[in-house]
Amino acid sequence: MIQAVADTVIGHADELTELDRAIGDADHGVNLERGFRAVLAKIDTISAHPINDALSEVGKTLILSVGGASGPLYGKLFATIGQHLGSPEQLSKERVVSACEQAIGVLKTLGRSDVGHKTMLDVLVPSLDQLRATEGPLSLDKVRKQAHEAALATIPMVARRGRASFLGERSQGHMDPGARSSELIVDAVCDFLETRL
Ligand code: ADP
Ligand code: MG
Repeated sequence: MIQAVADTVIGHADELTELDRAIGDADHGVNLERGFRAVLAKIDTISAHPINDALSEVGKTLILSVGGASGPLYGKLFATIGQHLGSPEQLSKERVVSACEQAIGVLKTLGRSDVGHKTMLDVLVPSLDQLRATEGPLSLDKVRKQAHEAALATIPMVARRGRASFLGERSQGHMDPGARSSELIVDAVCDFLETRL
């Protein structure tokens, strides 16, 4: 799953950088590619760990290898999910939802950000809401669709956090790069799970 996420993000690095060129400093794809290449460089060590420790390791690697704002934010997100997921034997949808909730809470505190600020949170929060709302068998299609719509919904927003916020109203009309990378990550996880469940 971690490999799938890394491959997807790296495969869209140019697109992410182009989005960041419009309202940032044209490095979002470069930043995440550097981070996920560092993850891939030690994928054997990472995947030898149980999922919770593996995610913590991914988080630490992103924090250490990515310079931009997104590195520490995604790094902390993965690390906190890992920290709260529990052992593989304890894994359940409820546990995944709860670990993601904790991680999003930490991300909000770290970034002093929330939904509506035109950031990755504008995709992560509604995607998690959709996952939580699904009863019975997982409907990953709905989660993917929600992530996609949520990323599109950042286009008309005015950025309130990150470099894009320096542009004020001129940040309108462009998708937030972090929202798009979050959509890609949600997509990759859903695609992977679909083939395994
Ligand atoms: P930098 O802004 O340092 O160049 P990146 O370009 O890699 O870093 O990442 C930019 C993305 O990070 C934004 O599109 C946004 O989604 C996210 N981001 C920036 N600041 C914050 C914040 N305070 N809270 C949440 N997300 C943020
Ligand atoms: Mg940038």
